[in-house]
Amino acid sequence: MLAEIITVGDELLLGQTIDTNSAWMGEHLALSGIAVDRISTISDAPNALVDALDLALKSVDLVLITGGLGPTLDDRTKQVLSDYFDTPLVQHDGVLANITRWFAHRGLPMLPSNVEQALLPEACEMLPNPLGTAQGMWFGVKGGHQVVVSMPGVPYEMKGIMTDEVIPRLQDRFALPTRYHRTILTQGVGESFMSEHVATWEEGLAARQVSLAYLPAPGQVRVRLSSEGENQEEVVRRVEQEVVAFKALCEHWIVSEREGESVATALTRELISSGKTLALAESCTGGAIASSMTAIPGSSACFLGGVVAYANEVKVDLLGVSKDVIEAHGAVSEEVVKEMAQGVRRRMAADYALATSGVAGPGGGTKEKPVGTVWMALAGPDGVQARVLNFGQSRSRNIEKARLECQAWLLRELREDKR
Ligand code: AMP
Ligand code: MG
Repeated sequence: MLAEIITVGDELLLGQTIDTNSAWMGEHLALSGIAVDRISTISDAPNALVDALDLALKSVDLVLITGGLGPTLDDRTKQVLSDYFDTPLVQHDGVLANITRWFAHRGLPMLPSNVEQALLPEACEMLPNPLGTAQGMWFGVKGGHQVVVSMPGVPYEMKGIMTDEVIPRLQDRFALPTRYHRTILTQGVGESFMSEHVATWEEGLAARQVSLAYLPAPGQVRVRLSSEGENQEEVVRRVEQEVVAFKALCEHWIVSEREGESVATALTRELISSGKTLALAESCTGGAIASSMTAIPGSSACFLGGVVAYANEVKVDLLGVSKDVIEAHGAVSEEVVKEMAQGVRRRMAADYALATSGVAGPGGGTKEKPVGTVWMALAGPDGVQARVLNFGQSRSRNIEKARLECQAWLLRELREDKR
């Protein structure tokens, strides 16, 4: 089944709102075995939607529209669809009752434009939207062989209607192939290097009916292995077999093989399962590591706390770093970062401690320590180790990459200790 997504709204064309709807829909349609052929973004002008529909219905089976269903004058999708399919707008009493309740519950007055939201084209199947006042609409075209769906632009309302109404109907009414995928998160290797490393294996994948996608992010590469076919068991077996092969080739770089899991979540899980605690001394990362740890529910079982030791005095007073060592080597140095990690580990009586000190940029670089130089230390029961990495010019990316490196480093250490 081939689909086109049409997102409607002047704000999308002006760059005031980023079109996140089509990205989400593309991903979720693919999981259901539906290929998106094209994504179009159009203005609120009625003609634009008519032209886009004419074009889409020439080539695809399914057209998904979001936007233009609000109560304001610029939202005209419903009227355009009513004209396009030559079907009058009629009142749905059930919808009107829901909208009335929705406003009463919030103590808000109901306006005539809200009452109008209970009017829907007679020929459509209503797709209920419990999260808002604009309902979704399903139009069968050419005896139901083609489908046009219209949904509100508000992302969480669209997601609810897609998940609860649209995808189940598509699965019921069309023979969609079974699709299965696994994603594996790796870190510490670029996508081009990884692709070279796995080339021989990757070349054979197509013949084994599995496809591989690289999804790179700063400092990380997520790899997705997927397959589709008629037989569910067979599709799953094909993918799982390649996951085993990939793991054997790339084990050292793998951070997580759980769907969508981040390095911070994987680290939290590993710390908790090994009964260990973590403390942090962060200079250049300014609490970014701590913040990503506390964002994870349940992290209080392993994360003790951190010190944002930005000024030298704080490194000395709170962490016990030696003044002489700072003077001799500078704050961004192996010696200092090691003392930071050991100091906070001692102070918080933690099993492990991570520390960072670097030149995040864009200023402050020198010939010896250019922007992007980050020293990291890991202190644990067996002592302290330090390493330096050289990232780039972007302050935010340097902070993010340093955070990810630190977390992956400790994760590897914990896994090695288990062996
Ligand atoms: P509408 O259904 O056109 O009234 O859209 C309601 C709101 O949803 C808009 O004000 C936008 O903030 C948001 N929105 C609309 N289209 C999109 C889209 N494609 N991606 C993300 N947000 C959107
Ligand atoms: Mg709009």
